[in-house]
Amino acid sequence: MTGAPVPFLDLAAQHAEVRAELDGAWADITATNGFIGGPHVAAFEAAFAGYCGTRTCVGVGNGTDALELILRALGIGTGDEVVVPANTFVATVEAIVTAGATPVFVDVDDDTLLVTADAIAAAIGPRTAAAIVVHLYGQMPDMDAIGAVAERTGIALVEDAAQAHGARWLERRAGAYGRAAAFSFYPGKNLGAFGDAGAITTDDIELADSIRSLADHGRRLDTRHEHDASGRNSRLDALQAAVLSIKLKRLDEWNSARRGAADEYRKRLDQTPCRVLGRDPRSVPVHHLEIVRVPDRPRVLGVLDAHGIGWGLHYPIPVHRQPPFAQFAREPYPVTERAAQEIVSVPMFPTITSREIEQVCDVLVAATQGSASGTRS
Ligand SMILES: *Cc1c(COP(=O)(O)O)cnc(C)c1O
Repeated sequence: MTGAPVPFLDLAAQHAEVRAELDGAWADITATNGFIGGPHVAAFEAAFAGYCGTRTCVGVGNGTDALELILRALGIGTGDEVVVPANTFVATVEAIVTAGATPVFVDVDDDTLLVTADAIAAAIGPRTAAAIVVHLYGQMPDMDAIGAVAERTGIALVEDAAQAHGARWLERRAGAYGRAAAFSFYPGKNLGAFGDAGAITTDDIELADSIRSLADHGRRLDTRHEHDASGRNSRLDALQAAVLSIKLKRLDEWNSARRGAADEYRKRLDQTPCRVLGRDPRSVPVHHLEIVRVPDRPRVLGVLDAHGIGWGLHYPIPVHRQPPFAQFAREPYPVTERAAQEIVSVPMFPTITSREIEQVCDVLVAATQGSASGTRS
């Protein structure tokens, strides 16, 4: 069971594949000095909209801004409620609060740890303006059922697709289901920039124009000195856009390598005390993170450390347990609470080898030996 260390993430291997193209983009931009906006940004926006299957895309500074800008452009703010899964990264909730609205947490499904249509429907009240669906870990929930709830109740459906570039529900991709979707290109995401970056995809050109204006100091589009709103500065750099265009061409290949790795984890951990996430056959996930739920996590983490195996926790303290957001907790969220105690994110990246996965699984299984198997609630 002893073997070489396995990193949690290996960006160097990924970047080595596109090194020459990246160097070319750097040379081009440093020669032209067009750092903000310009052809690299427009080209990436068009390519990413095409990839997601939406009419348009707006590049912004990061994924959190993308979420907040969507809400603001939809006119959502003070007095409005936004339904959001309790099991998410803090940024989803932060964007709601920054926009001035009130987050209404809902618990998640115990098998996928994703939000459900029923939970959203039950949380909708007279002040509900929107629901943010989070494609957490790279998997989309039942977008048909959730879309039907949004349709029936007239609330806006917003996707937090920060972990789901290229994921699909049936034939459509993440980013193409909601009124608008927010993407993050934080370096470790499935499509990652060389720094912070983000984007919004939507079919609604008017909404995209509002977002574009808000992200550029509320400047009226195609004018220089006229400002219609107190906006902000949240722009996509040309360098980041160029990097993203290069990496976008490899995204499907990288995502399918992740799916292969996830299948191996699933096979090797079947019938052990380690439980991987459930997968709906209608969904094609992109495995941003490989989540394993284990008994006695402190012990497991110690054993992983002892074997040099990288790990993460996404997320050990639920958002509603964080001081700034605890005031919005209305009820217990038992599935989220329990998952927070059990989850471990194990090594997952496109170039991970079968040998490495075997090694991680051997260590996980040895570390959980003696625990009750199939710890289903
Ligand atoms: C990364 C992430 C964000 C925030 O994106 P940033 O680019 O870091 O601002 C939002 N939601 C989820 C689910 C994320 O994983």
